[in-house]
Amino acid sequence: MGRRKRKRYKKPIRVVKRLPTMFQCPACGQVTLSISIDREKGIAQIVCTNPDCGLRCIVKNVPEIYQPVDVYAKFLDAYAKGELDTFCASKEEEEAPKAAEEAGAVEAVEGEGS
Ligand SMILES: [Zn+2]
Repeated sequence: MGRRKRKRYKKPIRVVKRLPTMFQCPACGQVTLSISIDREKGIAQIVCTNPDCGLRCIVKNVPEIYQPVDVYAKFLDAYAKGELDTFCASKEEEEAPKAAEEAGAVEAVEGEGS
């Protein structure tokens, strides 16, 4: 029987789903806005790579399911409303949240009444 060693490999076409991470910057209008999400920290970093613009923004509490485009949408929204100051957390980036103080934790009363 014909032994044809015909190995026909179909070229594996890998469609790498790459969501865009460059967006149009609302400040300078260039598509130079880079958004990267740090899932471990739950923050997103928005940086305009246009040196003439230099828009920067750190977004905290980014839901895990968020894609850069989602962050971008929120960012644009905040920008349009002029709420970037509250939206961006870059100014207090280093502020570590105090050890989970339970809401309304009773202040330890030392030496409570005898
Ligand atoms: Zn810009």
